[in-house]
Amino acid sequence: MSGNIIAYCEVKNGDLSPIAMEVLSEGRKLADKFGSKLIGVLIGDPVSDLEAKCGKGGVDKVVVCQNEALKYFNDQLYSGILADISALESAEFIMGSATFYGKALFSRLAGMMETALIPDIIEIGVENDNLFSKHPGYGGNIIMKLGFNIDKPKILTLRPKAFTPQEGISREPEIAEFPFDPTKYSSNTKVTETVSEGGGQVPLTEADIIVSGGRGLKEAANYKLIEELAAKLGAATGASRAIVDAGWVPYKHQVGQTGKTVNPKLYIACGISGAIQHLAGMQSSKYIVAINKDPDAPIFKIATWGIVGNDLEILPALIKKL
Ligand SMILES: Cc1cc2nc3c(=O)[nH]c(=O)nc-3n(C[C@H](O)[C@H](O)[C@H](O)COP(=O)(O)OP(=O)(O)OC[C@H]3O[C@@H](n4cnc5c(N)ncnc54)[C@H](O)[C@@H]3O)c2cc1C
Repeated sequence: MSGNIIAYCEVKNGDLSPIAMEVLSEGRKLADKFGSKLIGVLIGDPVSDLEAKCGKGGVDKVVVCQNEALKYFNDQLYSGILADISALESAEFIMGSATFYGKALFSRLAGMMETALIPDIIEIGVENDNLFSKHPGYGGNIIMKLGFNIDKPKILTLRPKAFTPQEGISREPEIAEFPFDPTKYSSNTKVTETVSEGGGQVPLTEADIIVSGGRGLKEAANYKLIEELAAKLGAATGASRAIVDAGWVPYKHQVGQTGKTVNPKLYIACGISGAIQHLAGMQSSKYIVAINKDPDAPIFKIATWGIVGNDLEILPALIKKL
């Protein structure tokens, strides 16, 4: 392999996003296997104080593009910059995260560069000097093993929390600046403000524990049981689409095919039947606990532990015990 590995380091609220360390760590492994350089890319404002943190992820070099016009994530501006940095740094692979931002950025980048993208990867490896990746397909019902067959920079996005960052790979990276030229990069949209919906709660996609509720809660007021259990466990709160559509909770809590894809260590599904569209967003969770009054509910097929019973009795008992 002749080129380098470029790792886009996602920044959120002025800090490296936790997924950035996962991307860097996997990038380091590939760079070591292929004998190439790992180059981290920071875009935003301010980002120049994050280079040392990128160093902890094992980068050989960090390219920084900092400008006040880049303060808020903008896929049109960021993809243009990333394409140019990738060309300048002889990218063979461009890696990033399959987050909300990453999905917007890398699909645009792939289109712009007319190259191939493998999204939402849960495993990466090398066989016979060729990279392969595993990617859940058809709503998570199959795992596809995919490789590239293209002689251009190849793009990979990693599913958040599917990889554990390696320890002891820290380096002191070379730092390079990439100047932002406002005449060269333009966007049809202007972001003037971002407002966090989290309300202080851990975002669903970053949470280690999620307590989720479905129609088996019977009415909107009972969602407070989900919130109370989550508070006891330091967990984020999720929901099935049925109760989002019913207006019990806002869309930001929805887990599933048309909601968020989550990958916590523990997912507690309360009164959720386990429709394939819900499973698509959570079945890669490490441990799944299901509470459902129907012993034949499909959720029990993928649950690590199941409790057959009424969630309106079990949840208060659990909260009391905790
Ligand atoms: C294109 C498309 C996309 C979709 N995307 C999503 C998505 O992103 N996320 C998603 O969740 N869904 C999605 N859906 C909807 C999905 O098909 C299901 O309709 C939905 O997940 C059902 O939600 P639920 O499990 O809360 O409700 P139900 O299917 O009604 O299940 C309620 C469950 O609660 C149990 N229950 C009832 N009372 C109690 C009680 N007292 N104690 C314990 N258990 C009880 C029942 O046994 C049942 O299993 C999508 C559907 C389509 C067509």
